[in-house]
Amino acid sequence: MSKGLMGSGRLTGAGASAAGLMLLAACAAEPVVEGTPSEITARLDRYATVRLTTDMSVLTEREREMLPLLIEAAQPMTDLFWQQAYGNPDSLLSSIDDPATRQLVAINYGPWDRLRGNEPFLPGVGPKPPGANFYPWDMTKTELEAARDAPAAESERLRSLYTLVRRGDDGSLRPVPYHEAFPEELEAAAAHLRAAAALADDPELERYLSFRADALVSDEYQPSDLAWMEMKDNRLDIVIGAIETYEDQLFGYKAAYEAFVLVKDIAWSERLARFAEYLPELQRGLPVAETYKREMPGTDGDLNAYDVVFYAGDANAGSKTIAINLPNDEEVQATKGTRRLQLKNAMRAKFDRILVPIARELIAADQQPHITFDAFFENVMFHEVAHGLGISTTVNDRGTVREALKEHASAIEEGKADILGLYMVTWLRDNGYLTEGDLRDNYVTFLAGIFRSVRFGATSAHGRANMVRFHYFRDAGAFTYDEATRTYRVDVTRTREAMTDLSRLLLTLQGDGDYEGAGQLLAERGLVGPELHGELDRLADADIPVDIVFEQGMSVLTGN
Ligand code: ZN
Repeated sequence: MSKGLMGSGRLTGAGASAAGLMLLAACAAEPVVEGTPSEITARLDRYATVRLTTDMSVLTEREREMLPLLIEAAQPMTDLFWQQAYGNPDSLLSSIDDPATRQLVAINYGPWDRLRGNEPFLPGVGPKPPGANFYPWDMTKTELEAARDAPAAESERLRSLYTLVRRGDDGSLRPVPYHEAFPEELEAAAAHLRAAAALADDPELERYLSFRADALVSDEYQPSDLAWMEMKDNRLDIVIGAIETYEDQLFGYKAAYEAFVLVKDIAWSERLARFAEYLPELQRGLPVAETYKREMPGTDGDLNAYDVVFYAGDANAGSKTIAINLPNDEEVQATKGTRRLQLKNAMRAKFDRILVPIARELIAADQQPHITFDAFFENVMFHEVAHGLGISTTVNDRGTVREALKEHASAIEEGKADILGLYMVTWLRDNGYLTEGDLRDNYVTFLAGIFRSVRFGATSAHGRANMVRFHYFRDAGAFTYDEATRTYRVDVTRTREAMTDLSRLLLTLQGDGDYEGAGQLLAERGLVGPELHGELDRLADADIPVDIVFEQGMSVLTGN
């Protein structure tokens, strides 16, 4: 399992920021007693181990020289995410002798099980703070909200994607920019990016890598996001920096550090390129009132398939991402659209190791042939494309959807992308643009996919989004349960109807910036009920893994 995490000696972390990051001292300082060996083993067994490889023979000599530099640039994201998710891990890790327990802590970046609603798995450890280590341990939501009365610039800096919130000597809240909190790690990553840039034959890649290096050390990401969108012909790529906000479950304001090192699959990418053209037509066809579809999705965004050869930080914590849609910057999205990255090797691993075994347990026998990798790939792909549909600014002057929906924003956005992804695939088939396979493949594979995702636990944005959809679909009769065989069967007609209704509901909540409505939906339907607990236990009893961990790095790639 993820040797790179434990073996690299990179967990020593940010000395410079120690004063601000003593947080969680309350629990880290508790004497740590090991969880029972069998419990730890059971938690580890929920991960299947997968080697991350790619066809190195297609790379040029220069690309083969760049790859280790990109992996080196990615490495510090592990330390940085530790600092954001937990704080300095040294005392926690040094208190643990058992290798399995250390491994479980490394996978989770802390003593809370990300696949089990962040439940603590070490004795003496309390609940995970919803604001992780982005905010002071003892800060309440109200306290940060009250800081809105501070001068506008200060208030904005407290809510910035790229600051930690800490207490000053007088106890008041103050923002600490990431590049001031973590100068050493960010300089190290930037230096490796610059070294890789110097080797790049593609001038656009060279430009992106140097701009991204600048972004890491300044927290100014926009120029590099633009350069990334302008880059088209590169084979190597790296997604790196402070990017997603899921780790901040208090407000959803703070971006977490992560990296993916990527090798583009040129042949597959060419096959995918054509779908982005349909976005404007799809947007016009959304099943919602005109006012909620007045934004025009960019059409120069693109869709590519990659092998991912290295994951670090947020991306490598708990459940692993198999598709990415970036950048998140709404201004860049408005002018350049977004890029959707399908991580094909990781996706295939999850399909083979997790989805197929789940379907064997839970899907009606006669619908089993509709579980296909192509349908899984399409569903995940169109989820990513669907992030570009709908609305990003509220229709009633409540600012961006993300700001208005606060901590509910991620779950509602993921739910929207899932359901509009299904809408897209339906539309493309109805209009004859997608002809291989059959709509039933997509719907049956989608249902099996809900069971897969729900197993991440209801604390992740994706998990909650999937719970909402499970309950919504069940109540609409989109699937039925057969007591005798204990399997589920998809009803295609009713799935279409449920899909349309749920799309309308989520698009409206977003467009209205309806914080209360979103909260109510997630509270009422976003939890795992007793019915589903039973099914999830069956999957656990059948020893089906929940997620994957990686053997990764240059030694895996070169087979040494
Ligand atoms: Zn998504």
